[in-house]
Amino acid sequence: MWSVGSTAFLHLAYAQRKLCFIIRQGFEHVEIGGKLNLDNIEVRNKKQVGREELSRVLLSVNRPARYTGGEYNSIVKDWDKASVKIALAFPDVYEVGMSHLGGRILYGLVNSQPDYLLERVFAPWPDMEEVMRREGWVLYSLESFRPVREFDVVGFSLQYELSFTNVLNMLELAGIPLWSGSRREGDPLVIAGGPVCFNPEPVTPFFDAFLIGDGEEVLLEFLAVLNQNRDRPRKEVLSILATIEGVYVPGLYKVSYNDDGTLRETRPLQEGIPSRVKKRVVQNLDQAYYPLNPVVPFLDIVHDRAVLEVMRGCQRACRFCQAGMTYRPVREKSFSTLANQAQAVLENTGYEEISLASLSTADYSNVERLVEALIKRHGARGIGVSLPSLRADAFSVKLASEVQKVRKTTLTFAPEAGTERLRRVINKNVSEEDLMAAVEAAFTAGWNGVKLYFMIGLPTETYEDLDGILDLLSRVRGAGRAKGVKRLNITASISNFVPKPHTPFQWEPQLKPAELEARRRYLLNKVKGLKGVHLDFHDPETSYLEGIMARGDRRLASAIYRAYRLGCKFDGWKEFFRADLWSQAFAEDNIDPDFYTARRREYTEVFPWDIIDSGVDKEYLISEHERSRLGISTPDCRYDKCVGCGVCPTLGVELDLRGEEGFAPKS
Ligand code: SF4
Repeated sequence: MWSVGSTAFLHLAYAQRKLCFIIRQGFEHVEIGGKLNLDNIEVRNKKQVGREELSRVLLSVNRPARYTGGEYNSIVKDWDKASVKIALAFPDVYEVGMSHLGGRILYGLVNSQPDYLLERVFAPWPDMEEVMRREGWVLYSLESFRPVREFDVVGFSLQYELSFTNVLNMLELAGIPLWSGSRREGDPLVIAGGPVCFNPEPVTPFFDAFLIGDGEEVLLEFLAVLNQNRDRPRKEVLSILATIEGVYVPGLYKVSYNDDGTLRETRPLQEGIPSRVKKRVVQNLDQAYYPLNPVVPFLDIVHDRAVLEVMRGCQRACRFCQAGMTYRPVREKSFSTLANQAQAVLENTGYEEISLASLSTADYSNVERLVEALIKRHGARGIGVSLPSLRADAFSVKLASEVQKVRKTTLTFAPEAGTERLRRVINKNVSEEDLMAAVEAAFTAGWNGVKLYFMIGLPTETYEDLDGILDLLSRVRGAGRAKGVKRLNITASISNFVPKPHTPFQWEPQLKPAELEARRRYLLNKVKGLKGVHLDFHDPETSYLEGIMARGDRRLASAIYRAYRLGCKFDGWKEFFRADLWSQAFAEDNIDPDFYTARRREYTEVFPWDIIDSGVDKEYLISEHERSRLGISTPDCRYDKCVGCGVCPTLGVELDLRGEEGFAPKS
């Protein structure tokens, strides 16, 4: 599906696309980074939308409340009084973007500053985009309805690799040149933050800067420096911004490649620009800004509840997990901070449920006492507490029973692999006994189903490991039947392993879609005899694209652009994903996707993402990779001794387990 097509096909496809460009936009050639660039588009969308015009069309689109703003707790500041204005752009639909905690934090943080203003903008759903293009409306912010291009900064939140074409679509709808090299004085600075920025290389030609690490630590400094230097030429401003720790300005680096296509180096082009960009970290989460008045949407969003971030980071060190490496070290909030924040958020929103959020909430020190305290304080008013993530053990089920006395939502566990051997390889330290104790406790407590997360295509996986998944599901089913559970419902959600940068598996090849499909069929055939067990698979083609982008380099940018021009957008949505168009885009650009996904990398290879310093040492990642091959697990440094990942000394931070103190004051 991703193979490079024949030359004749390429010429035809290229000619068609060229014609399509001429008809749609007209274009002129611009040379950027030595590649033919087809940007410099004449912007057709020029009109600022008014509220009256909008109300005229709202009934013709799905979920109109996505586009109206005016929600409870939304903040509309005086445009003329703000010295720096930033549009926070989420390249997905409103319901997804509004569920994102990072966006809520930055919204409140920036707007709490008298000099700055931040407004929201989301990707319009295709029905609304059609209206906007037909009417000639520019992309606007939800607070002031101002065109996005009138802001000083447009800051994208990059949460996943499959949102890249939506970024381009939003820039085009906003009338902002897509390529950073085509932007002129007066155009906004287009920046991004979020987990994808730990390897931003495939999209670097579209962005002026990236903020690496905890946004609340770096964004205000970025805006202050921008404010102080706003009268300087754009290039000069970017050079100054690049000296802030945690700010990566890709246009100030030269990238060169070896003959075999691997990266030779990423070199700063100026004095004073860091050779590696270090991530920024909030050390004390108690003192960090937290939004106590989050916006309450008019429509149901994906996570429609109050959110309490109890800690940041996770030290379990699963070898496939990028967040576990890049959000280090663990930093907890104290009980008293959490109690005060919960009280305020509930009062200010009217939500009847509060979710304790983090990468691994059941690992928060004293989590049971925290939950008890929150239920005691708010339970009488009918407010529920929920835990988004559980450990696979009976303790977690006890906790879940405590918090879900009224509504028994689905219990989920993530063994990730079907055999103990493979779980040791990936350092998922869950024993089968723990897992079985957890599901038995769940059935005893009244749940009639559980959901289990697995991955296929993991390094060293064999068909025996796939059989292990089925054996485990069979044992879980047996436990339910032994407890006399009626209408037993066991779901296994099976995703595809995608090797990610900054993890011990960054050197590993990814399985091609055809092989993943074969493993999917194998499992489907064999599960037929297990009544009450349902398998849910992720699409292999989508995972493949994710894998290409995750470990990609700058050469992918023109393929992303081509894919967008061919019609790709909302690539993370099954109904819109077009593997055929992506395949065409790679072929037209002479890019072999397997180069990025299917090959094993050497320890000596220089990676595009080496420019970003997450604080975790490469030597540690190599040793973890070696241990995985030997099937040796590594303990969690929260409970055991430091295993030397390097993040604490490199970033000058430390583990902060202040939840251990309960309600006692920190000495
Ligand atoms: S440096 Fe040591 S203590 Fe700090 S996060 Fe890494 S392993 Fe844990």
